[in-house]
Amino acid sequence: MGPFVSVLLLSPPYSILTYALPDYLPRDAWFPGCRVLAPLGNGSRAAVLLDTESDPPPGVEVKPLLWPLEREPLLDADYLDMARNLAARQCRGLGEVLAALLPQGFRSAKVAFEDRSGGRPRRVEAAALRKADQGELERLAGAWMRGEMGQATPLAREAERYVILECEPPWPIRPGAKRQEEVLEFLLGRGDTPLPVLKSALGDGADRAVSALADKGLVRIAREAWEPAPEKEGPADDAWSLEPTAEQAEVIGNLREALERGAFHPALLHGVTGSGKTLVYLHLARACLEAGRSVLVLAPEVALALALYRRFHGALGEKVAFHHGYQARARREKLFERAARSPEPTVVVGTRSSLFLPQRDLGLVILDEEHDESFKQEERLSYQAKEVAWFRCERAGAVLLLGSATPDVKTYQAGESGAMVKHTLANRVGGGRLPGVDLVDMSQAGPEPLGSTTAEALQATVEAGEQAVILLNRRGYAPIMFCQVCREPVGCPECKVSLTFHKARGRLLCHYCGHSSPFPCVCGQCGQADMFPMGEGTERLEERLGDLLPSGTNVLRLDRDAGRNQERMEAILAKFARGEAQVLVGTQMLSKGHHFPDVTLAVAADADLGLNLPDYRAAERVFQLLVQVSGRAGRGEKPGRVLIQTRSPSHPFWNFVLRADYEGFFRRELEMRRRFGYPPFAKLGLIRLSHKAGDEGGASELKRLSSLLRERAAELGVRMLGPAPAPLAQLKGRLRFHCLCKADAWPDLRSLYAEARSAVGRDSPLRLNLDLDPLNML
Ligand code: ADP
Ligand code: ZN
Repeated sequence: MGPFVSVLLLSPPYSILTYALPDYLPRDAWFPGCRVLAPLGNGSRAAVLLDTESDPPPGVEVKPLLWPLEREPLLDADYLDMARNLAARQCRGLGEVLAALLPQGFRSAKVAFEDRSGGRPRRVEAAALRKADQGELERLAGAWMRGEMGQATPLAREAERYVILECEPPWPIRPGAKRQEEVLEFLLGRGDTPLPVLKSALGDGADRAVSALADKGLVRIAREAWEPAPEKEGPADDAWSLEPTAEQAEVIGNLREALERGAFHPALLHGVTGSGKTLVYLHLARACLEAGRSVLVLAPEVALALALYRRFHGALGEKVAFHHGYQARARREKLFERAARSPEPTVVVGTRSSLFLPQRDLGLVILDEEHDESFKQEERLSYQAKEVAWFRCERAGAVLLLGSATPDVKTYQAGESGAMVKHTLANRVGGGRLPGVDLVDMSQAGPEPLGSTTAEALQATVEAGEQAVILLNRRGYAPIMFCQVCREPVGCPECKVSLTFHKARGRLLCHYCGHSSPFPCVCGQCGQADMFPMGEGTERLEERLGDLLPSGTNVLRLDRDAGRNQERMEAILAKFARGEAQVLVGTQMLSKGHHFPDVTLAVAADADLGLNLPDYRAAERVFQLLVQVSGRAGRGEKPGRVLIQTRSPSHPFWNFVLRADYEGFFRRELEMRRRFGYPPFAKLGLIRLSHKAGDEGGASELKRLSSLLRERAAELGVRMLGPAPAPLAQLKGRLRFHCLCKADAWPDLRSLYAEARSAVGRDSPLRLNLDLDPLNML
């Protein structure tokens, strides 16, 4: 038998197995990267053909493969290398990684073929192929090779049904209807959810609860998740009628040259807010398409990606596709296939996961708002989009353009050191000035969240018929619900944190584990109902503004509760953009890249928030947030003003914020990082360890592992802090410990972690994971 090939299963256990090539199909029906049907046990699995092998492993019965799933490769060699690279970085298997990247239809063995050789198309199931005799197989092989046999699925799929929440709490349901309440709470927390997901999360009875809720009109069942309608809305400005400014023209010229060279060219576009970065992107995208190569544009979140998409679509037309991670399955699969098979160069605008579309011949990859933390994915397969983009561009010989008004310190340093080429847009378009920024001293202020200067400025703005945005990076009504009798906040039973009061929902919520309990309630300690909400969240601020501002003023709120799904978030942003409200209150969501020409006042209600977090990036993050929110003001004709409320106005940090002085901030920050050995001067990895609270076994395991870690770290030259209790010492009933590791190279961190991993058994009470370049140090 033979020749032999190794294939990788696209479903658990993701093994690499040896198969023979069957004799009924010619050799060239098979190629590396080809998805195939591999018989295994009583059924078949989808797999990827990796390599041709000379010999099968001894003593193993080698079966022949059943059938190829494609005539042209969906995944090319570069794509597979990208997946290998991801796997190596994250210490994961290639199969697991590919399974996370490929839409479900492309790793399913539930396929049927269509045989068109006999005139009328005939369906051939995979199971029928397994039973077919040699004559039939040879006949079908002929049809396959002549292109008269193809796949009938996966593009004709059963429709997905989504459950969509239709109205806000409090909901008009019977108090005893627990199931229904669970469904509503789930949807409120998670957004639109496919019915099967809801059923598996909530178990029996969820089905009936959903129908009952649908009858009452509280939820709706739809064929697909919401998709934005790109054509209808959006600015109708014709990008090509704008004459690039001298600054823009220079950047476009330089990067066009790089595009024409067709070699890898990593570049930073540092352009102040409102400097017209988008027009630069558009000109480069057009040049790239003219050179016959594909373009990928990434934004940190769906709403921003959508705004960019609308501009690209308006300028470059139908060839521009929109992609994001929450798309309905059928649509994702269609986009995936089109990216690989389109005869023309493609343009995709989307969020980070668009990087994994198999676009061919990429010539230009743009990451807008590159400093944004959403470019790192932490759940499931973790990756940093900037690194993956770097890898893809290096392979493809493409221009990689990272754009921001407040670049990541690491990116800016790469620009300074020559690892990237730095381009600058120092001025706002049309001579617009950056807004004037003032500090509002809150050090003597009482519990009122807005100082008198701020309150007056807001009133004046509203009276002048202009708009204001207010940033408060804390959702909910109040972060603490305080029992006046015990003098204690109500805490989460599973986590060592206090519960946040959400007034409209009438609930106390844990923002870490999702625990939720009704309010009003009695104190768990003393049984009294003497509770008092302390502190300020967006919901409370919104309520206060109602009293503060002239009657008839409309206030909108943008946070994860109000904009719980894309559709609602879009609706809020669109409403504000149309001027239907004068004030928009929100969390950091509202600081991001949105263009509101009528906003003349931006307020940071509690600018100190986040500055004292135990995290080396705290200052960078707050600087970016404040400069970005300042950048929302004065983008139109009228000049803007920014008010920053702080309780420590003498802190030197504010000088940089007041002047939006990125350079100055960067120099100081870099010096600190050099002194304390933080990135970009070291590679950072956070090993997170946890065990159940009160578990003796876990505690002693931790002790054992700690000394092993310290020993190995010393040998590897890794500088290690900890293991020590994490700032959030207990979450979801588990005690958490952190081990912060600094090294000169990533592989040192990986080998340290790998050794720790192998030192804990499968059934160890200790859980551990490695977060490379951690963004969240809590
Ligand atoms: P940034 O992303 O740098 O904050 P945008 O790309 O959103 O800025 O541009 C801000 C505004 O300036 C947009 O309304 C855009 O249409 C406009 N604009 C950009 N370039 C020009 C130009 N050369 N001439 C006139 N208007 C421009
Ligand atoms: Zn909790």
